[in-house]
Amino acid sequence: MKKIAIIGSGFSSLSAAAYLAKEGFQVDVFEKNETVGGRARQYQQEGFTFDMGPTWYWMPDVFERFFSDLGKKREDYYQLELLDPSYRIYYAENEYIDIKPDEEYLCSIFEKYQPGSAVFLRKFLKEAKDNYNIAIKDLVYRPGMSPLELVNTKTMKRLHLFLKSIQKQVRSKIKHPYLFQLLEFPVLFLGAKPSNTPAFYNFMNYADLAMGTWYPKGGMYAVVEAMKKLAEELGAEFHTDADVHKISTQNGNASGLIVNGNALSFDSILSGADYHHTELLLDEAKRGYSEKYWKSKTFAPSALLFYVGINRKLKGILHHMLFFDESFDKHAIDIYDTPQWPKKPLFYASFPSLTDESCAPEGYENGTFLIPIATGITDTNEIREEYFHKILHRFNRLTGHDISNDIILKKSYSVNDFIKDYNSYGGNAYGLANTLMQTAFLRPGIKSSKVKGLYFSGQLTVPGPGVPPALISGKLSSELVTKYLK
Ligand SMILES: Cc1cc2nc3c(=O)[nH]c(=O)nc-3n(C[C@H](O)[C@H](O)[C@H](O)COP(=O)(O)OP(=O)(O)OC[C@H]3O[C@@H](n4cnc5c(N)ncnc54)[C@H](O)[C@@H]3O)c2cc1C
Repeated sequence: MKKIAIIGSGFSSLSAAAYLAKEGFQVDVFEKNETVGGRARQYQQEGFTFDMGPTWYWMPDVFERFFSDLGKKREDYYQLELLDPSYRIYYAENEYIDIKPDEEYLCSIFEKYQPGSAVFLRKFLKEAKDNYNIAIKDLVYRPGMSPLELVNTKTMKRLHLFLKSIQKQVRSKIKHPYLFQLLEFPVLFLGAKPSNTPAFYNFMNYADLAMGTWYPKGGMYAVVEAMKKLAEELGAEFHTDADVHKISTQNGNASGLIVNGNALSFDSILSGADYHHTELLLDEAKRGYSEKYWKSKTFAPSALLFYVGINRKLKGILHHMLFFDESFDKHAIDIYDTPQWPKKPLFYASFPSLTDESCAPEGYENGTFLIPIATGITDTNEIREEYFHKILHRFNRLTGHDISNDIILKKSYSVNDFIKDYNSYGGNAYGLANTLMQTAFLRPGIKSSKVKGLYFSGQLTVPGPGVPPALISGKLSSELVTKYLK
């Protein structure tokens, strides 16, 4: 039986492990941390449970497709709940918009803030749906090996959407800042500024405003556990606390790994660890990309996160909340153009215990706060504390809930932790951004150009950042491994 090693156990590795085990290969997954899930690990303390990374479950069809590809049903592994409303955007004190996947409702909101704008919204959502069908049902399932993968009559008709930014498209008609921020928010998941993201990516708006925001019971970690269980049922084996130090090669072929000092032989290697780090596990001559290449790329942001336990129940707030009371554009400059700690950051807060009581002790709430920040910036406890107080003050003021004296647990997580825990380049949280010049075949390749039998998956290669793309990435890369070995 042919043997495959998978480095890392993030979503793309879990996906690849399941597909490859189904093909009948012997699959061993090596994860340096003590639990699986990568950036989607779980943190439990004093009865509180936190998803450390992803919290938004979008594009449910991608997850359903994963389970059905493997001959299974998602509902046999975890349950989903549609959040209604999906989330709330605060713009000022007690001034907010609740988002729902309901076109009539959204049109009424648009008309309230900018009379006449519902006409644009309807057209925009129709186009976003068409783009979703082209991109997520087809294009993203191609391995990014050739520009020709993107060429067909449907994409040629939409060439103009690749050449103009989503910001330009939206702001040409939408003038009210609440509304254009609402429409530009979803592409932030792709890791770049809306002014640097092609309008074609408005399929993210369809995912948001039409398909809705879902919650897997037990949190995103329930999805990690489900995928691990499925991969194990198919025969994959998981090894945690298993740090890979080297990828060995023989006559130009990937031939094995050194894990915790032990040399192990394999017929092929697939790495879901950060691409840059994986290449450091090879001798320099065998790396496909130079340090200069990585430095020239637009990375998706890092993040400053706080996981907090609150000793009372909160009313009148939502599971997901965005705080857009400061300038979106100025914060983006501090992330991408002149990387530094943001002067006036936007932030996100999530309170899953409002939906799922199992996340906090009875009568308590768990909350996560997230500020997107530039990669590679100085990260100290003093800076983290300063930002915690800044956003807590704003949270209290905007929501009308003063939780300052009710926090009984607090853990922070940022750049230094991303580097230490995941070998992340510059402490990136979300991988390599999806800009026009970093799309599909223009991203780091899924197949090593220098070492035969070495493949990559995850948020630095195709299709890009996010959990649904990670599932797809694992599928694409496992298909190439299968072809190579068979
Ligand atoms: C804070 C945060 C919030 C997010 N929010 C969302 C969201 O709401 N919705 C969404 O869809 N996406 C979200 N994302 C993005 C999403 O979580 C990621 O795109 C996805 O989980 C990345 O999966 P991956 O397969 O690329 O690998 P990763 O999760 O990065 O896993 C890589 C694994 O490789 C391991 N590894 C590294 N080096 C070695 C080594 N030498 N030996 C062994 N193992 C090694 C690491 O420990 C890690 O477990 C978020 C990410 C973060 C960080």
